[in-house]
Amino acid sequence: MPDTDRIAVVTGASSGIGEATARALAGAGFRVVLGARRQDRLMAVAGELGGRGLPLDVRDLKSIAAFTRAIEADYHQVEVLINNAGLAAGLQPLADGSDDDWVQMMETNVLGLLRVTKSMLPLLRRAPRAHIVNLGSVAGFEVYPGGVGYTASKHAVRAITRTLRLELMGEPIRVTEIEPGMVETEFSLVRFKGDAKRAGAVYEGMQPLTGADVADCILWTVTRPPHVNIDELVVRPIAQATTRDVARKR
Ligand code: NAP
Repeated sequence: MPDTDRIAVVTGASSGIGEATARALAGAGFRVVLGARRQDRLMAVAGELGGRGLPLDVRDLKSIAAFTRAIEADYHQVEVLINNAGLAAGLQPLADGSDDDWVQMMETNVLGLLRVTKSMLPLLRRAPRAHIVNLGSVAGFEVYPGGVGYTASKHAVRAITRTLRLELMGEPIRVTEIEPGMVETEFSLVRFKGDAKRAGAVYEGMQPLTGADVADCILWTVTRPPHVNIDELVVRPIAQATTRDVARKR
């Protein structure tokens, strides 16, 4: 690895906020290493950015280990880890909740983030300075009916971020949580299992954030001077005041 290479790893970089963040980091001079399950999409993004795409399923410990091994084989250290892979599944009240949806959200958003972070920490510790950015959500401190599995998982992300900041105190590793409101990505399409009409209705009559808007915030936190830690950054569309209060033009 050339001494000048600064490695940024982005999980869930095959679409949405992760893809936009990969673009922003590559534009700022980072060499990007991208992970996700959909290899065609991932390789197209990595190829375009002169970065590297590697298969990654954050629900699978073996996949995480292989991902980290492949990075370590090529690069001595990692400077930035963007823990972005995540999803919402379903919008039913607890009484009708799907066990499969809950397991998928907990395994991806909570266990996946914990396990990827643990696996990458030795590589982050080798860098003279490093930064971990977790994708939380306004659902990490607000709740809404039907969101119990997702809000519980993002509340957990907030607890993990805050715990990690305590545990890494004194080391040159910054820990940031980004907490977006409504962002139009594939998020709602995934939540409603491919129902494009239902997904489109989420953003009807209002202008949501784009993945690029959130990537811009992430890049700002990463490019602050090394002694400056942005603990949390909450970003919403101007039309959204809370998860439940959204101004729509009819
Ligand atoms: P998205 O377009 O659906 O992107 C999600 C990404 O996560 C995809 O690249 C997907 O890639 C990846 N992913 C999902 N499961 C994975 C797994 N098991 N292993 C590896 N990668 C996995 O949605 P997004 O809005 O950009 O979401 C990104 C993050 O932002 C999530 O953590 C989400 O909770 C958070 N967020 C989103 C919003 C919003 O309104 N959109 C608001 C607040 C927070 P593959 O399917 O190819 O694996």
